[in-house]
Amino acid sequence: MLLRQTLIAVSRSRRAEALLSNSSMTTSVARRFVASDVIAATSELTRRGLLVTVDHLGEEVDDRVKADGEVMAYVDVIGRLAPGADVSVKLTALGLRLSEQLALDNAATICEAAAARDVTVTLDAEEHDTIDALMSVHATLRKEHPLVGVAVQAYLKDAAERCAALTGARVRLCKGAYDAPGAYSGKDVDRSFVKCLRVLMSGSAYPMVASHDPRMIEIASTLAVLHGRDADGFEYQMLYGVRTDEQARLAGLGAKVRVYVPYGDDWYAYLMRRLAERPANLRFVARALVSG
Ligand code: FAD
Repeated sequence: MLLRQTLIAVSRSRRAEALLSNSSMTTSVARRFVASDVIAATSELTRRGLLVTVDHLGEEVDDRVKADGEVMAYVDVIGRLAPGADVSVKLTALGLRLSEQLALDNAATICEAAAARDVTVTLDAEEHDTIDALMSVHATLRKEHPLVGVAVQAYLKDAAERCAALTGARVRLCKGAYDAPGAYSGKDVDRSFVKCLRVLMSGSAYPMVASHDPRMIEIASTLAVLHGRDADGFEYQMLYGVRTDEQARLAGLGAKVRVYVPYGDDWYAYLMRRLAERPANLRFVARALVSG
């Protein structure tokens, strides 16, 4: 728990970022979790029967020019993705901290570009103090773009109510990767995840089960059968470079499996969150250190 909090704090430190993101050691570790060529990576995953959601790496921006740059990056990649792909978008990278309206307008531009290419958009869930704005932006976008999806973090105590309110929506359920005060921790997160799964699988939403946890995956598949959902009625989602055998196994059984493919130079905070949720990944850092 302490290591997780430390790594999440390190993920927000500009000084640590300057130090670590220029090191060849961290760069080589990043390559395991971040695509160096997003189109080549997504084409290869598609060839293997997997779906993709693409994330242009970037966190909170503090000026409109950077937010515009983020929109341009998404419009560019959408133009190069195959139909059926999805893009994952962070509202803080679209200017949410500057104004909710700015983030909404920017997200709407991305949704329009995506709709023209038969690509869908999913809004990532970020820090706890952005969640109300996330839900409100999502609700507004859905009026024009009914397929826009949103992530719900099971560690938040109102996660099940959030899921219940998202009738008919594409909902990505994840455990939650940030440091949220007052949130569930440990096994309580898993219990909340299962509660949310029950709500989503029994309701009208399209559940996107974003977890590498074998127990959560098994419970999701059981609940899907129980509620008469066929393979098209929900999907599993996993991160690029994580449990690739399991991704292939589920896809081989006929399930829809979408891989979250991050790309771009701004990979530092993303990588630190991956290390925080699975400190075992630190062994890659240690190995890279030893091999120089
Ligand atoms: P954990 O609780 O980390 O691990 C449980 C078990 O899963 C482990 O004991 C192990 O058996 C297995 N496992 C986990 N990782 C590995 C691994 N690397 N190798 C082998 N086995 C492993 N978080 C957000 O806050 N907002 C988002 O928008 C968001 N989007 C996401 C999208 C996707 C597609 C995914 C997969 C995750 C996303 N996350 C997001 C991150 C998520 O919230 C969790 O932090 C992360 O997925 C870790 O939780 P877990 O459910 O995979 O399992």
